[in-house]
Amino acid sequence: MNARVDFPFFAAPDAPVYLDNAATTQKPACVLNALHRFYTTINSNVHRGAHRLSRAATEAHEAARCAVADFLHAASPREVLFTSGCTEGINLVAQTLACAKRVRAGDEVLISTDAHHSNIVPWQMLGERVGAKVLPIPLTPELQFDMSAYLSMLSERTRVVAVPVISNALGLRLPVEEITRAAHDAGALVLIDGAQSVAHEAVDVRQLGCDFFAFSGHKIYAPTGTGALWGREDLLEALPPWKGGGEMISQVTFAHTTYNDLPFKYEAGTPNICGNIMLAEALKYVQHLGLPAIHTHEEALMRELCEGLQQLPDVQLLGGSAPRSSLVSIHVPGVHHYDLGTLLDQMDIAVRTGHHCCQPLMHALGITGTTRFSVALYNQSDDIERALAATRKALHMLR
Ligand code: PMP
Repeated sequence: MNARVDFPFFAAPDAPVYLDNAATTQKPACVLNALHRFYTTINSNVHRGAHRLSRAATEAHEAARCAVADFLHAASPREVLFTSGCTEGINLVAQTLACAKRVRAGDEVLISTDAHHSNIVPWQMLGERVGAKVLPIPLTPELQFDMSAYLSMLSERTRVVAVPVISNALGLRLPVEEITRAAHDAGALVLIDGAQSVAHEAVDVRQLGCDFFAFSGHKIYAPTGTGALWGREDLLEALPPWKGGGEMISQVTFAHTTYNDLPFKYEAGTPNICGNIMLAEALKYVQHLGLPAIHTHEEALMRELCEGLQQLPDVQLLGGSAPRSSLVSIHVPGVHHYDLGTLLDQMDIAVRTGHHCCQPLMHALGITGTTRFSVALYNQSDDIERALAATRKALHMLR
């Protein structure tokens, strides 16, 4: 796969080796062109205008929703809510569940130890509001999801299970299909955080069987401030709206307001019209290349990267030699991750250092952070070679 040519960012002569894709991705020309096209041809507000431009913008916006539904294999675009990102999607679910009293005092929400803060804190806020407990599901000594511990934690008190497909700090995949089945057997709802998986593996929400699936656009070649939450239609119908304003209403009087149909009930105010259209463009781009082909390409890069890192003295790969689709975190005893990241930056290698918004995980591991390398479809073997050579050199300098 040679998709780098599709990304104007890499045309710059001083473009770095970009291996911080788990934080955010570069954007292909087709996505950037969609912005220019929108603002030079149909820029207008959606849904309420009588004029041609507003109709065109509305059509493009709702076609974008259909594209997201298609990408997720949703049963209907009514189940697709545009959000500002994964974080907003999770907050939407946590807050509406609290509001609807679907989680009450004494109930439990189970999350994984390697959850991102955005899949911890919204549940803690819900817990504080209703008196529910948020319990972390432990990891095995190999840092894998501990299935037997999880099964023993499930009970009639479990209301929600919220886990990522791929942990952003470890890069390990969780058995989300099995997690979902077991949660449903216990009568709990399941939210899957797809932030780190959507750009790397195909998703079929119906096959997965979860109740909610959240992701961010910027991690899949779309702009920041975009994303979607998929929810089961009957649940979205039953739950209350979480933000009030224009578009989410049916009738407003000073005495009483009734709400709009799905999906608009959850989309108060002017949406990120152009951003959502760009999100659809990014998803179509990925579909055009094909997630299986992307996966094969990235898997080969990851193999080369992990094998190379393992050969460097004292470098520990968190999670050992387990397979990873798109990212790996390393810990080097005696070397601060920030120093390593800074030296790599000086050699034009962009990686991420720190706790990766997983402070409880770092605490459990007894470290303050890691150095994380993450690949995307435009990376090539030469990026990996340069990153490995630079890491070897940086570690040598730090000793
Ligand atoms: N979950 C995971 C696993 C993530 O990696 C991230 C982003 N690092 C998020 C949630 C939150 O995404 P965003 O900040 O785009 O809302």
